[in-house]
Amino acid sequence: MQSESGQVKRWYDSVRWRKARAMFLRYDPLCCMCAKRGMTVVATIVDHKIPHKGDYDLFWNQDNWQSLCASCHSGVKRMQENHGYSQACGVDGVPLDAGHPWNQGER
Ligand SMILES: [Zn+2]
Repeated sequence: MQSESGQVKRWYDSVRWRKARAMFLRYDPLCCMCAKRGMTVVATIVDHKIPHKGDYDLFWNQDNWQSLCASCHSGVKRMQENHGYSQACGVDGVPLDAGHPWNQGER
């Protein structure tokens, strides 16, 4: 019996993910959260807008992907861990409040 996290790790390790991720970043090379703040920052991470939590369809659904830089990504993860949800770059353009943790301490 494979644990959920072990299974997800396999997805991240897969050639399919590496190729899809590289393709995604090529088409969408800038951090979408920084872009909303008027900053141009190269994205290095493909993040899931809605945490997939081991859900196969959510994991591979590119509509649920977004390009993030490392600093925004760690902000998103911190938010998810602290609050159980992500406010990053919502489909409806969730406002990125200057008071958000990831806006503080940058620059
Ligand atoms: Zn960013």
